This record gives sequence, structure tokens and C-alpha cells, in this order.
Amino acid sequence: MSAASETALDQGSVAQRMSDIREAARGVSEGFSRQYMRECIDNHRFPQEAWDALGDYGLLGITIPEALGGVGGGQVELVALMEALSETGMVLPMLLLTGFARVPILRNGTPDQIDRFVKPTISGAEKLCFAITEPDAGTNSFAMTSLATQAGDGYRLTGRKVFISGAADADRMLVVARTQKASEVERRTEGMSLFVVDTDAPGVELQPLNIDVGWPERQYLVFFDDVELDADRLIGQPGQGLAAMFEALNSERLLVTAMSVGLGNYALKKAVAYANERKPFGKPIGSYQAVQHRLAEAKAELEAARLMMIQAAATFDAGGKAGDHANMAKLLGSRAAVKAVEAALQTHGGYGFDKDYDVITLWPSARLMEVAPVNNEMLLNYIGEHVLGLPKSY
Ligand SMILES: Cc1cc2nc3c(=O)[nH]c(=O)nc-3n(C[C@H](O)[C@H](O)[C@H](O)COP(=O)(O)OP(=O)(O)OC[C@H]3O[C@@H](n4cnc5c(N)ncnc54)[C@H](O)[C@@H]3O)c2cc1C
Repeated sequence: MSAASETALDQGSVAQRMSDIREAARGVSEGFSRQYMRECIDNHRFPQEAWDALGDYGLLGITIPEALGGVGGGQVELVALMEALSETGMVLPMLLLTGFARVPILRNGTPDQIDRFVKPTISGAEKLCFAITEPDAGTNSFAMTSLATQAGDGYRLTGRKVFISGAADADRMLVVARTQKASEVERRTEGMSLFVVDTDAPGVELQPLNIDVGWPERQYLVFFDDVELDADRLIGQPGQGLAAMFEALNSERLLVTAMSVGLGNYALKKAVAYANERKPFGKPIGSYQAVQHRLAEAKAELEAARLMMIQAAATFDAGGKAGDHANMAKLLGSRAAVKAVEAALQTHGGYGFDKDYDVITLWPSARLMEVAPVNNEMLLNYIGEHVLGLPKSY
């Protein structure tokens, strides 16, 4: 019974890798104010200028080997980037989506698929989104019914996905669909495959949902109506999509943790500045322990999640078993972010609810991360079952 981490953390080199990226990220974030992000968020406009700047700095090439035109590095660098941007209030879910959707293509795709679907994302010219959730299946992805049937050399895709973030901003979508119905396989985990689908392909329809979580990207209900897919749109082996996705999910968990920790620290920074200034009784409210301890607790919890995130990212990069710590980091990070935003709200008193103070505006995106991309109950289920060895609870 242990949280598996097969790789000892070389703290010096990991710290160096992170600080190099943080330095480069500063070059981008200093050019784009939180006001710019707020305008993008309020108008659901993709922050293309910031995205282009990330591409210009080479930061969108992180995790892509230099031989393929990227800048190398791994999850450590990618989480460092996500964290560094988020802690300035630059919320970029597309970085998470494109960043982790590339993992299964890089690991399972052919050289030609990597050329076509991954390489254009390095400069920022193309973006990827990810579609697994279905209206009826929800958390239970194995119950998905979207079906890609063999048609000539290729496939024909029919079905529906929901909550797909950034579908209208992205060029392509990594779709998990069944190539065998659940009723045709021995175990429900079998028969799922990964496809790269162009978001403007004939038969793909995007319907925006009325969701506002403080992100620039909207969420969409996506319909696939007999979408024709050439054989080379299948990533890896048919029916083996789940295993390929599981490799990518650890990356997703870590990026969500980075976003949570960054956002939590952004909220704390604002709260500390306010607590040092605001003096309704003559002394700064930050001198009262009731205010100070709330902020200090949130900081300690953000830091705990951060350390676990770094540990898991280094393990992932070294090819070790990162799942336990990646799941725990996401659980702790999302909770710590909510705690930090709550503390910042309380510190700001009534002004916390004034959108111009940009505190209440942080709450939906922090709170969302307790629900998506995987709800925290599922992470507790994972820890109960796979780390503690308890019976499956659902
Ligand atoms: C803003 C936003 C962006 C999203 N972006 C994407 C995206 O880009 N791509 C994509 O594919 N999906 C995306 N999602 C979907 C997201 O991953 C799902 O909402 C999430 O996985 C849960 O599915 P559901 O909403 O159907 O909840 P349900 O499955 O209906 O679950 C509802 C609640 O029940 C509880 N619960 C469910 N199952 C269990 C269990 N086994 N044990 C204990 N408790 C349980 C949890 O509290 C859960 O929150 C996004 C969602 C949102 C809101």
C-alpha cells in the first residue's frame, strides 16, 4: 500500500528546468495584462494574440522533441508554463487541451500523423481540443455510444459529445469513440478508439452551451452526423484507444493542478495586497489572525499540491508510474485553489463581489476544477481502490 513514485526527484535539475520556463513565460505574461484576459473572457474571444506570443517564444513546442521541430522538455516544463501563466491571471485552457491531446498522438501516431496533427501546433498555427464526455454517459465514459463504423478503408462517425471546450477555436478534435459497441465486447473498457477529426469537417456541428466559468473558450455540444474519416485519422490500434488515453490523462491531471495552483496563488497575491492596505479599524486587516491564518492555510495547501505535482511530473517524464501522485495532486490542487479564492473573497469583504476587483471572477474557474475534467469523487475512488486496495465503490 503506497503511493507509487518510482523515480527519485532530482530537485536541483527539476528546479532549474522550471525556473528557465518561468523566465520565458514572464516574457509573454508581461505583454498581456489581466485586463486583456478579462476582455477575452467576458466576450468569449480566444486570446489569439497571447497564443501567438507563446508560439513566438517557442513555448508551444514544449514536450515536442527538437528533432520534430519542438523545444523538448516534458511535463515538468509544461506544468511550469501553465502555473507561471495562471498565477498572473492568464487562464489558458487551450494550452491544457492542446498540450495533453498531443500526448497520445506523439506516443501512438505514425510519423505522418505526427507531421500533420502535431507539428502545426508547435508554432501555434493549429490548436487541438478533446472530446470524450457524452450527455448520457457523463463520468462513466465506458458507457459512451458515439460509434465509428468501418466504411471502405476508413470510418464513418456518428454520435454526440458534450461540454467540449474550445471546439470552435480549435482546428482539430481528438475524439474518443467506440469502434465496437459495448454490447459486442467482453469488457466495457475494450472497443474504444482515438480519432483526429477536423472541427469543420462535413457532418460536424457545434452548438454553444450557456456556460460561463471564467474561461475565454466556450463549451459546445458536438454532433457527429456520418462524419467520414480516412483510415489515417485513427491514432494507434483500433479498440486500443483507452490505453492510449490513460497515458494522456496523467498529463491532463497535472496541467489542471498547475492551473489551480497558479490561479490560487493569483488570488492570494491580490488578497495579501488588499489585506496590507485595508484599515477599517486603523490597522491593516492582514494583521488580524482571523484574516492572516485563512490566507496562510490556503498557501500551505497550494504548496503541498504544487510539490506533489512537480514530483508526479518528474516521474512522468522519467517514464515512471505517475498516476497515484498525479491524481492526488489534482485533488489537492483543485481544493486548495477553491480555498485560496474563498480566502481572497472573505479578505476583500463586500468589494470581493465587485467584478472590477477581479476576485469573484476567479471563483467559477477555481470551483470548476473540482468537477472537471474529472470530479474529485472519482479521484477519491481511485485512491481508495488503487492506492489503498479497497473494493471498487461504484
Ligand atoms: C466548463 C467545462 C469544460 C469541460 N471541458 C470538457 C472537454 O473539453 N472535453 C470533454 O470531453 N469534457 C469536458 N467537460 C466535461 C467534464 O469532464 C464532465 O462534466 C465531468 O467529467 C463530469 O461529467 P457529468 O458532468 O456528466 O457529471 P455526472 O457523471 O453526471 O456526475 C455528477 C456528479 O456525481 C458525482 N459522481 C458521479 N459518478 C460518481 C462516482 N462513481 N462516485 C462518486 N461520485 C460520483 C460527482 O460528484 C459528479 O460531479 C467539461 C465540463 C465543464 C463543466
